[in-house]
This record gives sequence, structure tokens and C-alpha cells, in this order.
Amino acid sequence: MLALQGDFREHAQVLRELGANVALVRRPEELLQVDGLVIPGGESSVMDKLARTFGLAEPLRAAIRGGLPVYGTCAGLIMLADTILDGMNGQQSLGGLDIAVRRNAFGSQTASFETDLDIAALGDKPVHAVFIRAPVVETVGPLATALATLDDGRCVAVEQGNLLGTSFHPEITGEYRFHQYFLRKLVAAAR
Ligand code: GLN
Repeated sequence: MLALQGDFREHAQVLRELGANVALVRRPEELLQVDGLVIPGGESSVMDKLARTFGLAEPLRAAIRGGLPVYGTCAGLIMLADTILDGMNGQQSLGGLDIAVRRNAFGSQTASFETDLDIAALGDKPVHAVFIRAPVVETVGPLATALATLDDGRCVAVEQGNLLGTSFHPEITGEYRFHQYFLRKLVAAAR
């Protein structure tokens, strides 16, 4: 669990309830001890600055390139995107997902909203999704796969190999299926 900033406690709680052994990662040494990583929601520009200040950005990039399973929600999705649109001046991502993500894509008028999404990979029951100053995946490159779209067709969940990203926050709605889906990737990768 990347614990530089944001709602990592909520994610840790969900992961523990699913039986995972959760460690908080703030230093490069701690990254070497985990089989997967969740990057929480929060503020991606702050997370980026902290990751660079703590010397974590390069080790994280190397781990992602090396196949570490990583799930990013909201700001975490922005961190995983190869391209950030409307980033802060000088903002960098870690990359890994072949996507372009637009920060704060719903503007200040619609800072937050909730909706139900049909996500085939998670079964028939719709996912109740909460968006908070959320990004949208504006371009899905050939290496990434869209998992969920809004009614207007905009993409809000993607996967690519061991990487998973959502614009919304399953960790605050009692929706465990994304974390379960991610833990299955993690277990398969650890074999
Ligand atoms: N707008 C935030 C950012 O740019 C993301 C918001 C969130 O994680 N809920 O990082």
C-alpha cells in the first residue's frame, strides 16, 4: 500500500478484510518487501512530489516495468498513466498504463457524483461508483483495455497486464470486487 498521501487507510482496511497482509510503503526498502501495490486516491501532484522527495519514484517505475501488480484509484490512476493531461506544472507520473488521463475532468461544477457501472469483468451486479474530482481516461492506447465506461462513452477503468486503474473509489463504498480482482492478479504474479 503506497502511503505517501491520500486515502490509503481505507484501502488497507478493504485489503485486510479480504485477508491480505498489508504493509505501508513510504521508502524504497519497503517497496522490495511487497508482492503488489495499491496507489490510493488523494492529490496526484502532491503524491508525485513526495515520491520524488523520498527517492521512491524511480524504484516505483522500475518495479512497474518489472511486472509488479499495481492498482491505482483516482490520483493513483493518474500516477499510473503514461500521459497526464491538465497536470500541474512539471507534474510527472510513474507510467505503465498506455493511456492519457485528464485530471479533474468533470470540472468544478461536477466535482463529485455517483453512478452505477456495468463491468463485465466483475460479474452481473453493477458497480456503484463514487467520483471525487476524478480523472477520465481520454485515450486508451493499444496496450491497455477499457473495463468500464460512463453512459457518454468516456472510459473510467482500465487494465493492462498486472496493472489496474479506476477513476472512482471502490474503497469507500463497500465495493470489494476490484480489490478481489486485483488480489487475484497479485497471487497469479507471485506464483
Ligand atoms: N484531482 C485529484 C488529482 O489530480 C484526484 C482526486 C482523487 O484522488 N479523489 O490527483
